[in-house]
Amino acid sequence: MLVGSGVPVLKFPKSSLLVLALVICFCCPVEAQTSKIYDIVLQGGRVIDPETGLDTVKNVGIINNRIDEISSKPLRGKEIVNVSGLVVAPGFIDLHVHGRTNQEQEYQLHDGVTTALETEFGTEFLTQWYASRKSKALINYGASVSWAFERFRTLGNFNKELNQLKQTVVSGESGWQNLFNTIQPTYTNSLSPDQTNLTLANIRKSLDEGALGIGVPIAYVPGAKPDEIFEVYKLAAGLQAPVFTHVREAGIMAFQQAIADAAVTGAPLHICHINSSSQGEIYFAIELIQAARSRGLDITAELYPYTASSTKLESALFNDGWQQRRNISYGDLQWVATGERLTKETFDSYRKSGGIVIIHSMQPEWIKAGIAASGIMIASDAVPYARLAHPRSAGAFSRVLGKYVRDEKVLSLPDAIEKMTLLPAKRLEGISPMMKQKGRIQVGSDADITIFDPKTIIDKATFEKGLEFSEGVEHVLVNGSFVLRNGNTVSNVFPGQPIYGKYRK
Ligand SMILES: [Zn+2]
Repeated sequence: MLVGSGVPVLKFPKSSLLVLALVICFCCPVEAQTSKIYDIVLQGGRVIDPETGLDTVKNVGIINNRIDEISSKPLRGKEIVNVSGLVVAPGFIDLHVHGRTNQEQEYQLHDGVTTALETEFGTEFLTQWYASRKSKALINYGASVSWAFERFRTLGNFNKELNQLKQTVVSGESGWQNLFNTIQPTYTNSLSPDQTNLTLANIRKSLDEGALGIGVPIAYVPGAKPDEIFEVYKLAAGLQAPVFTHVREAGIMAFQQAIADAAVTGAPLHICHINSSSQGEIYFAIELIQAARSRGLDITAELYPYTASSTKLESALFNDGWQQRRNISYGDLQWVATGERLTKETFDSYRKSGGIVIIHSMQPEWIKAGIAASGIMIASDAVPYARLAHPRSAGAFSRVLGKYVRDEKVLSLPDAIEKMTLLPAKRLEGISPMMKQKGRIQVGSDADITIFDPKTIIDKATFEKGLEFSEGVEHVLVNGSFVLRNGNTVSNVFPGQPIYGKYRK
């Protein structure tokens, strides 16, 4: 204050100046925070963060692609979105999908998924595949190394097929079915020790391209002997790269095989779709996985919330004895191209021509048990687009939240969200440190956020009518950009980023 300005100088006792200084000190940061202008403010939603246990009404401030503030105080934003009455959850992380295009991603987006990864089967030519999705994806994407493909590469005499396959990847027209069909001639081959070593070297090289672990779908490759698989687990253990496996056959013995390999080698292990792989033995499968975890083994598992599975009819899953293995018959098989149920005649003819089938073989109680079980994740196993494709491709996450949380009260809403967000993020963090920023609503987390109405969320896709967008997912942000608003896809926005493994060079 200028002396002689004519304004009276206020005099305070020293002690009250100290108090004033302290008040200013404590107020400043708060004022600075609330005067910040966020790009987007999500106002008044029920914010659920499974890691910290946060479950209360808050405002969320987003700057660029990050969550910058979570506060009970009003926040200022360039854009304020009223989300009162809605749940603000971390974007769902689906670590098991087979679709590779935006057509499939759009169904997932409407189901609340912000990251969709092909880990079970894995993807061929990873560098080219990641490049083909760059700046084009609606949601985040990534893949594991395909062990089945890498062993195909070692078998020789497939140069033409490999070139064709690579071309489809480079041109962005690749697909799981194309990969599956190309490598199918080698599914019954057993590898020599030299070929096994070459396969391991191929896997190692592909991990350097940024893969998220090793996809080991043994059920499709009956020629693979236990010693070959054991070598793959040893490699995985040395690198602490997770093995994502579709176990050798339906039933508990194959679970015990996989768990034994993981326990003996120290490989991190994720067992895919324990519902369809264990069938009626899901209770035993859950006990095995939980017991392994309580002994400190890094073993996880997932399921999807449906009583039918789906795969290719020409695959080894339908080799002789399939009826006994799954306790089903021709009429339990539904042909995806037409929706018809099969007979012996149509089974024989379609198995020759090839295509995808839905297999009705599970009981509702098994699915309930898996969804309720602590530590078991939700993953869709979404298949490539077809109008009558398995409804899990569009509705897996909304079905858990609508049918199993709200209607049947099988588990709490925060527990269900944990199975869709934090658990898959943690499964991947060892191989992909960038996942530590996902699966959470915390200051500093990536702004992958799913906002849904807990009163209305539900799956709409059915086995009879085919794929349909789920209902009740109102807004979805991927890396800070809206990709879904008021239940509608935002056009011409492609914020999906690659999810890479740590060995990427
Ligand atoms: Zn599978």
